[in-house]
Amino acid sequence: MVTAFPAPIDFEADGKQFGHITIPHSRHDSAWGSILIPILCVKNGTGPTVLLTGGNHGDEYEGPVALMKLARTLEPGRVQGRVIVVPALNVPAVLANRRTSPIDGGNLNRLFPGDPRGSPTQRIAHYVQTELLPRADVVVDLHSGGSSLDFVPTVVMHALPNPDMHARTLAALQAFGAPIGLVLEELDAQGMMDSAAEDMGKLFLSTELGGGATLTPERVAIAERGVANLLAHFGLVEGPAAEPAPATRVMCVPDTSWYVLSRADGIFEPLVDLGAAVTVGQVLAQVHDPADPLGDPAPHHAGQSGTVVAKRAMARCTLGDSLFVLAENYPNARESAADAD
Ligand code: CA
Repeated sequence: MVTAFPAPIDFEADGKQFGHITIPHSRHDSAWGSILIPILCVKNGTGPTVLLTGGNHGDEYEGPVALMKLARTLEPGRVQGRVIVVPALNVPAVLANRRTSPIDGGNLNRLFPGDPRGSPTQRIAHYVQTELLPRADVVVDLHSGGSSLDFVPTVVMHALPNPDMHARTLAALQAFGAPIGLVLEELDAQGMMDSAAEDMGKLFLSTELGGGATLTPERVAIAERGVANLLAHFGLVEGPAAEPAPATRVMCVPDTSWYVLSRADGIFEPLVDLGAAVTVGQVLAQVHDPADPLGDPAPHHAGQSGTVVAKRAMARCTLGDSLFVLAENYPNARESAADAD
């Protein structure tokens, strides 16, 4: 039998299928060409559907590597339900080592719900919005800090208005087993896959597993273990699928005063590292101006007392860059007061 290429996926069929999401992309060197995005569907009987995606931002590699390793090993005999895996959602960006698409400059995670007649990145968003999210019960979009940021390996959820959904998402966040779990109030949720999934009532988790467009053995292991733990948590595979994870420290970033933004253009010298406990007013960094070697570097202070969960990965900084993100334990005093109301 001759199989058409790219093979279409039948999401309702039992078994392990590999195919491609096909996004038409006519260009000088490929007039009738397409972008082919690898996709895997492993289904066995009835059960929940978990959608696992990586490479939403192209320069974040923990997710793609962990999901490719899962794709090679996941067999339908071990699964009850359906697992859909897209290791490199914005594959042109992944191959270009760019956060955004080298084709149209699109930031996939700001283009939801997408546009079927739009640019290639808008069309990827539209496919996810219309074909993948509606089929899923649980959506896990694996991110990290990318070229410019570095995180303590973290699993992320949003503070949700529905208490039951909030509790179920918090339980999943703890099951993932990253060192830190962040409960975020999103500052700029417009166009994100997160909001698209949550608006459909899907249980959604994201991650910030590291960064600097690099990989370490520890961070890849956290990604692999986290995904395996979630599949066990939702009953898709017999658990525990991986060795037990250390307890997750659940934290939050209450508002923008927990971000340290660069107020100078120059060279960012961090004085503390990821995971450091810092106090309000502490000098966390100084920014040197190469044009003024005898001048004092600009000190940058902590606006709050907390833990450094993210740090700029690049030494070169300009005005407004995030140098650090601080977090505190969750629930914090404010959340506890709200619970008591
Ligand atoms: Ca990201």
